[in-house]
Amino acid sequence: TSPEKKRYNITLLPGDGIGPEVVSIAKNVLQQAGSLEGLEFSFQEMPIGGAALDLVGVPLPEETISSAKESDAVLLGAIGGYKWDNNEKHLRPEKGLLQLRAGLKVFANLRPATLVDASTLKREVAEGVDLMVVRELTGGIYFGEPRGIKTNENGEEVGFNTEVYAAHEIDRIARVAFETARKRRGKLCSVDKANVLEASVLWRKIVTALAAEYPDVELTHMYVDNAAMQLVRDPKQFDTIVTNNIFGDILSDEASMITGSIGMLPSASLSDSGPGLFEPIHGSAPDIAGQDKANPLATILSAAMLLKYGLGEEKAAKRIEEAVLVALNKGFRTGDIYSAGTKLVGCKEMGEEVCKLVDKMM
Ligand code: ATP
Ligand code: MG
Repeated sequence: TSPEKKRYNITLLPGDGIGPEVVSIAKNVLQQAGSLEGLEFSFQEMPIGGAALDLVGVPLPEETISSAKESDAVLLGAIGGYKWDNNEKHLRPEKGLLQLRAGLKVFANLRPATLVDASTLKREVAEGVDLMVVRELTGGIYFGEPRGIKTNENGEEVGFNTEVYAAHEIDRIARVAFETARKRRGKLCSVDKANVLEASVLWRKIVTALAAEYPDVELTHMYVDNAAMQLVRDPKQFDTIVTNNIFGDILSDEASMITGSIGMLPSASLSDSGPGLFEPIHGSAPDIAGQDKANPLATILSAAMLLKYGLGEEKAAKRIEEAVLVALNKGFRTGDIYSAGTKLVGCKEMGEEVCKLVDKMM
């Protein structure tokens, strides 16, 4: 008798450029890892971004957002491309992603910078790096009011934005960060600019107060300028970093490059209750789309994060992470991480190799 299978609904949003190539591979890997751990996935593939604009004239169709909301997790490829670059603001592919995040109410963005295998790397400083940036995604200066461009009393144009954070917004992102640190190495560094920004003063106060609930997590604070410098100087000192929307945007891009290629790094965006959104950090890479050159590992590792953070299926996630490591150890490389002595493969072959290896893990 076979044990009862756990069923999950996954919405796939391939999007544009290399998105469809890498998502189709990640789907195969998910299916493979899931079947070995008694999980059954029902996949719903929906249009978003430029693909949706071409199909129905909007970047996030009603059917797409409702499918995403009803699912257990959402796996996104990438959005955008030259073709739509001159569209009006509300008809830009990227608008679809902003609307998707808002619709799913995802507020916590988790971005690991983990060096999967040292041989993909050129710089010594990165050896052993394994850190996670937890970025607040829905508040702060990107969304604060008032904002705009107005003419001042001297008749000169003035552009302005406002950094706004409510206590509850800081509290909920800090909780995600403490929980994340607890699952990792128990160290949390909160990054702010409390010496000059009022929102940062409140940020530091609330994060500090919350530390009492997490006595097992060691909390430190760092100003953002210092953090930017420390990330380059000695990234190994970090475990989990929590920060606001704009600082997180910048620091997570900086952190990701420590480990080598943009084609290797996944991300997760989580809400309080609904499905999480999982996607590679890279864009749609229109320059290599459709040529079987894209590195699918970022999306494959996003699928592993989907299992771990979205569904709580840590064993299936682990299978995928280990399969990726073994594929790299065997020398499999897409063009973005290729170097002498390794084996240059395309997107498909890399995907097939990981799928095969998923089968052999544990
Ligand atoms: P976006 O605005 O959507 O973030 P972007 O302009 O920042 O896009 P990407 O689309 O991520 O940039 O591409 C930047 C460069 O990295 C391109 O040269 C692209 O070919 C390369 N690149 C991105 N993703 C991958 C990948 N998965 N595999 C190989 N190369 C990639
Ligand atoms: Mg980019």
